[in-house]
Amino acid sequence: MTHPDPSAAFEFRASTRLVVGAGSITRLGHSAREFSATRVLVVSDPGVIRAGHAAAGLAALASSGIATTVFDQFGENPTTSQVESGTAVAREFRPDLIVGLGGGSSMDCAKGINFLLSCGGRMHDYHGRGKATGPLLPSIAVPTTAGTGSETQSFALITDATTGIKMACGDPRAAFRVAILDVNLTLTQPARVAALTGIDALSHALESHVSRAATPASRIFSREAWRLLVQNLPRVFANGSDVAAREAVQLGAAWAGLAIENAMLGAAHALANPLTATHGVVHGQAVGLMLPHVVRYNAATCADRYAELAADLDASTAAAHTSPAERIAAWIADWITGLVAQAGLATSLSGLRIAAPDIPTLARAAATQWTGGFNPRTVGVDDLASLYEAAQ
Ligand SMILES: [Zn+2]
Repeated sequence: MTHPDPSAAFEFRASTRLVVGAGSITRLGHSAREFSATRVLVVSDPGVIRAGHAAAGLAALASSGIATTVFDQFGENPTTSQVESGTAVAREFRPDLIVGLGGGSSMDCAKGINFLLSCGGRMHDYHGRGKATGPLLPSIAVPTTAGTGSETQSFALITDATTGIKMACGDPRAAFRVAILDVNLTLTQPARVAALTGIDALSHALESHVSRAATPASRIFSREAWRLLVQNLPRVFANGSDVAAREAVQLGAAWAGLAIENAMLGAAHALANPLTATHGVVHGQAVGLMLPHVVRYNAATCADRYAELAADLDASTAAAHTSPAERIAAWIADWITGLVAQAGLATSLSGLRIAAPDIPTLARAAATQWTGGFNPRTVGVDDLASLYEAAQ
């Protein structure tokens, strides 16, 4: 049994009020009114608009007498130039509150627009943490996928339109004041989106749990996120209309976001980002593919933490507690690979047609990723190259 070190100092931040429940999108207008909002910019990607979710949000805002305009000129991985276009729309409309209604792209784009509208400058000015120069407009998240955790953390992932590099731009002031978790909005996700976002959420729970920055408080959320996700993702992948499992996954993704906000991530994300930037591999696919190899690599460094997670995987295998560290890590890693395969995603780099000659360049790019510094076991360029090789 691991006990927290009573002398260890830490902070824990939870800035977002959660409104949870089927049908809770109808409370969006009321929530906006609590901030005295009269003009709301709704940031929603075209797919979310087609599914009718943006209309439901706009109706809820209109019923509270709130004027609205929609920005939808962006796609997956919103770029710096798309955020600038959204900011131009916002400057014209002069909102007093911003709603990010959609998947991670919509929520991140909403945060990006809020940075530029409230603080000026360009997106690059906010790359890193704590770069806001003043207060941001209040904002509300209405997630329609269960994965990125953007609803409960203060980072926006914005892609440099020129280089394709993803910039994590975070500031506590950019966190959503409210997140409305309405399971009904997640039921229309295509199976592939549910797979990609679900695997990403699982990786957030696991990486934040063993991060160097993890605290006794962040681990409450990372472990509960892991428990909800490992027990319910297989059910969602088997039957997309299992509403109870969808609800559990939605909550798990939100808890994982809160864990990231306080504990950051690790090497699987450092390895995944260059695959997205240079080979166009979707984030959930990239991170799900690399995660099992990182778990094996970390085995000896965080054996106690992996033993905790192994115990949640399946009660009948609680004996894993007494196994050597490598066996526990291998068992978790194999379980993740099985889930990634069940989700219909590739489990090797060769399955994505990424070949050995690409590895040195990928490893150099992975070594520059900030997130790698939080991995429990140090990763250098050679280690990262070996991890890519293991994923071949
Ligand atoms: Zn992720």
